[in-house]
Amino acid sequence: MKQRMIYIILITGLVSLYMAPEIHSEESKLMDMVNNIHWLGQATVKISVPGKTIYIDPYQIKKTDLADIILITHSHSDHLSPEDIAKVSSDQTIIIAPGDCLEQIKNIARDKTIISEPGLIKQLGNILIEAVPAYNVVKTNFHPRTNNWVGYVLTLNGIKIYHAGDTERIPEMKDFECDIALLPLGQTYTMNSVKEAAEAAIDVKAKVAIPIHYGLVEGQNQDAREFKALLKDKIKVIIKEKE
Ligand SMILES: [Zn+2]
Repeated sequence: MKQRMIYIILITGLVSLYMAPEIHSEESKLMDMVNNIHWLGQATVKISVPGKTIYIDPYQIKKTDLADIILITHSHSDHLSPEDIAKVSSDQTIIIAPGDCLEQIKNIARDKTIISEPGLIKQLGNILIEAVPAYNVVKTNFHPRTNNWVGYVLTLNGIKIYHAGDTERIPEMKDFECDIALLPLGQTYTMNSVKEAAEAAIDVKAKVAIPIHYGLVEGQNQDAREFKALLKDKIKVIIKEKE
């Protein structure tokens, strides 16, 4: 009996020794990706991994790198800015945007534009892009569901990043899965409360949540701190400095 116990202890010890570096490397891979995500104000996010630069909703950007991919969530002027898209576009840039954005960017995008709507799945090199629904449930006149506007789930280096676009907490979120969630805190046009944004982070099963879409026309720095406090011991919240 005693011998059996010793065996069990030995085996448990060996298994945990074997597993520990794996857990550690998963976590450091996730945090490396968090560091590759730059918040440029409002809903503008730049993701830089070696060899690829992705912009989501570029708006009022200062420092510009050329984009390989630009994702647009919807046609409101703080998300669809032809001027900013032009700043980071080259001949090689692929733009993915909802159909109602195309008219405004037709001179920039030319033939390299992909029309997005909820359900779109696109593999571009080693990046998988999925467009998911984004809409208002309560404030339906701002982002009606029927507009087919989107958020995006990107998979790169094995990490799933969800950019919610302008949305309230919607039932579909329970079917989304991501490692890192970029969620809007503005409470005039998007989420109805900071609590709702925190619940959305739980719905999408994020390991790390980063608040965006605050501090300009709606939502305050205090809201980001409240978001972090609400998710304490549940989800790691990283409050990014605006770059
Ligand atoms: Zn909007």
